[in-house]
Amino acid sequence: MRMRKPIHELVPEYFHDLPVYIPGKPIEEVERELKIRAVKLASNENPLGPSPLAVEAIKRALADSNRYPDGGSFLLHEKLSERHKMPPENIFIGLGSSELIDLAARALLRPGLEGITSHGSFALFRISIRASGAKLIETPLKDYTFDLGAMGRAITADTRVIYIANPNNPTGTMFNADAFDAFLEKVPDHVLVVLDEAYCDYVERTDYSRSLERVRQGHNLLVLRTFSKVHGLAGLRLGYGIGPAKFLAEVNKLRTPFNTSNLAQAAALAALDDYEHVRRSIRSNREGLQQMQAGLAALDVQAIPSFANFVLVELGTDANPVSEELLKLGVIVRPMRWMRFPNAIRVTVGTREENEKFLRAMAQIRASVTPAPGSLPR
Ligand SMILES: *Cc1c(COP(=O)(O)O)cnc(C)c1O
Repeated sequence: MRMRKPIHELVPEYFHDLPVYIPGKPIEEVERELKIRAVKLASNENPLGPSPLAVEAIKRALADSNRYPDGGSFLLHEKLSERHKMPPENIFIGLGSSELIDLAARALLRPGLEGITSHGSFALFRISIRASGAKLIETPLKDYTFDLGAMGRAITADTRVIYIANPNNPTGTMFNADAFDAFLEKVPDHVLVVLDEAYCDYVERTDYSRSLERVRQGHNLLVLRTFSKVHGLAGLRLGYGIGPAKFLAEVNKLRTPFNTSNLAQAAALAALDDYEHVRRSIRSNREGLQQMQAGLAALDVQAIPSFANFVLVELGTDANPVSEELLKLGVIVRPMRWMRFPNAIRVTVGTREENEKFLRAMAQIRASVTPAPGSLPR
């Protein structure tokens, strides 16, 4: 037998220390391991469940599952085109918006080029940049918010993509349309801005975003939206991007031919008409955010003011043991050390009862969340 060279040694160098995305713990796993009932407030999912109209549509579509789906998602293109008053060519339907984050990097980056994102933002941004072999440039956050000025200054001749989330995950902070416009004006023509608006539906401010207008005006801007949050369809994996038609035509060559399933397409079509579910979800989140912020303030725990469906909670002490304690009390949250917030947890807004369970658990372990000596006063 000849000695074989292990094939994994031949993957490109820049793969080797690529971080693996760490998802929130599944409820079933926690319940099985700890033998308790748990609530999951770890992955920013919709606590009210999927759109009921989408569930009905999936049941109807199920019987056609022997057929390949419409690879071009024709009906969904039409519907989104109508909804956003944007030609179908400007819309790319993906396997979650995550697929678009990855494809933008694959289309534009390679070793020798640069991608920019911020510290303390969505992990897939930096993973996608690094997986392309390009150099990752990360600018610091300012007051838990994107520092758009610093991001603009980080652009070089080698920059091709900038990833920004608004509201940001995991901080929940936002910038307004004026701030973004001022930034966009300074971005040179060789750079694509990917603006991830996964949580846009939860922002109830008139000055929030004019991003689609900017796409219409021909900026190098790709706006990302998802069915995973307000529509409650995270498990079906469907998202979309709105951006320059000719760029999307190039990206389209990179995707697999049937990137989205028949069930996901049917669900998304129905969910777009489920105004009632969207309204209920937004109302429930508004009330839940208030409940969380008030409850945490009463415990003297610092929550970063959030515009999304989660809150970043600064504990003033190592968040890992606190998360473990919460887990034992049946509440799954996300410790944020891996996102460089060693003392913070991210907590998704749940139903009233779930939020109460979280706040009760926090009160119970309050003793262990007193600020470490020398930490900043709250
Ligand atoms: C949840 C989330 C998404 C959604 O990703 P999908 O792949 O569409 O499920 C995208 N971006 C950010 C920043 C998110 O937090």
